[in-house]
Amino acid sequence: MGIHGYSGWRVFREGLRDQAGWKRAWRSPEPKSRYDVVIIGGGGHGLATAYYLAKTYGIRNIAVLEKGWLGGGNTGRNTTVIRSNYYYRESAALYDHSMKLYEGLSRELNYNVMFSQRGVIALAHSRHDLDAVQRWVGAMRINGVDTDILSREEIARRVPILDMSPEARYPVLGGFVQKRAGTARHDAVAWGYARAADMLGVDIIQQCEVTGFRRHPNGVIAGVETSRGFIGAKKVAMAVAGHSTVLADIAGFRLPVTSYALQAFVTEPLKPVLDTVVLSLATGVYLSQSDKGGLVIGGSLDLYPSYAQRGNIPTVRNVLGAVAQQYPSLGRVRFLRQWAGIVDVVADSSPILGATPIPGLLINCGWGTGGFKAIPAGGTMLAHHLATGEPHALARPFSLERFSTGALIDEAAASGIAH
Ligand SMILES: Cc1cc2nc3c(=O)[nH]c(=O)nc-3n(C[C@H](O)[C@H](O)[C@H](O)COP(=O)(O)OP(=O)(O)OC[C@H]3O[C@@H](n4cnc5c(N)ncnc54)[C@H](O)[C@@H]3O)c2cc1C
Repeated sequence: MGIHGYSGWRVFREGLRDQAGWKRAWRSPEPKSRYDVVIIGGGGHGLATAYYLAKTYGIRNIAVLEKGWLGGGNTGRNTTVIRSNYYYRESAALYDHSMKLYEGLSRELNYNVMFSQRGVIALAHSRHDLDAVQRWVGAMRINGVDTDILSREEIARRVPILDMSPEARYPVLGGFVQKRAGTARHDAVAWGYARAADMLGVDIIQQCEVTGFRRHPNGVIAGVETSRGFIGAKKVAMAVAGHSTVLADIAGFRLPVTSYALQAFVTEPLKPVLDTVVLSLATGVYLSQSDKGGLVIGGSLDLYPSYAQRGNIPTVRNVLGAVAQQYPSLGRVRFLRQWAGIVDVVADSSPILGATPIPGLLINCGWGTGGFKAIPAGGTMLAHHLATGEPHALARPFSLERFSTGALIDEAAASGIAH
């Protein structure tokens, strides 16, 4: 039996007694007046931080404050791709640490996060894409991350629904695969961490918006003003993704972050047609098939900064056009839903982790379009910093300070995809 007592035996036993024995997955406590640590943001990163802080460092007097509902931000809106195919050593180390934690996460949390290592294939459509692939694969191998170059024939075999005809709008010349990469169930990741953190005594407080920060006369953080009153804390951490600049403005410092809407789409359920994740380097469009059968599709960012979670029409047209051109057999498939989340994009497309100009206030942001895969890493990094007062070695290169030292980690320029 794991920490929550979920097991095959429990499922069987509850089946025999009308499911009457299940407890609520987490409590709904009233906020206390004071905590050792307050974490703002009940997405994956905030919840994972609380879990690792309680589990690894034994700090349990923690509150996670969420203005809406758990996972209602990007964690519950994303297309769930998990990979560590980055170019720079620092990024590969961070994201591969995350991948390794994902590999054991269902067991760690006693909660099935449905991590499916079905592989992620990137498609090259031109001579230049092929050059980029060679360079990218070389860097990944040097960084110790698994990858294989794929020929055009191998891709045709693995992804039979792709248009491989000579007159294809986006001819496929080759590509590469990271076999350990894949997808997980997004809200299970949030719920699994929430449940495990709650079991360790963490107070998860939903419908509680942080509206201000209070500081001691020496400048050190003293707590947060919220829609449910003031809550004191020795340390405060924020993991609020697309709303990072909103809170930083309130706290009185600036972040090199721009917030954009990023859209996703899901089709009606189909019989199995795709057993991997495919990303086109030319169009930025990628798709996978969920366990329910729907094709889960993503593309590029919307064109201008916005907090509107609906997304704009030109991006819808570009994404759907590219899907129809690259996968003609899907041309008549119906779409069930489209939505957007507000992502926090940094100029060098790398996250910001660690100290802020306000003593006692730490930050985790800037994951942009790719922070679902980083949830276990983001959680372990922020927990380490909160508990020890020092950044973790893997997080050190990603400090806010890099924007004054110039030591940027420009993944957008290096690997050609934003995050
Ligand atoms: C359409 C889409 C597709 C994506 N696809 C992928 C993908 O395939 N793979 C991948 O790795 N990543 C992907 N991402 C990115 C990924 O979803 C995010 O990077 C990740 O979920 C960020 O997690 P988080 O916990 O930092 O933020 P969130 O999950 O957004 O959580 C932040 C929380 O903070 C809360 N909050 C904000 N302000 C306040 C306040 N003042 N007080 C209290 N609470 C507050 C919000 O309500 C929110 O719940 C995608 C994102 C989108 C939008």
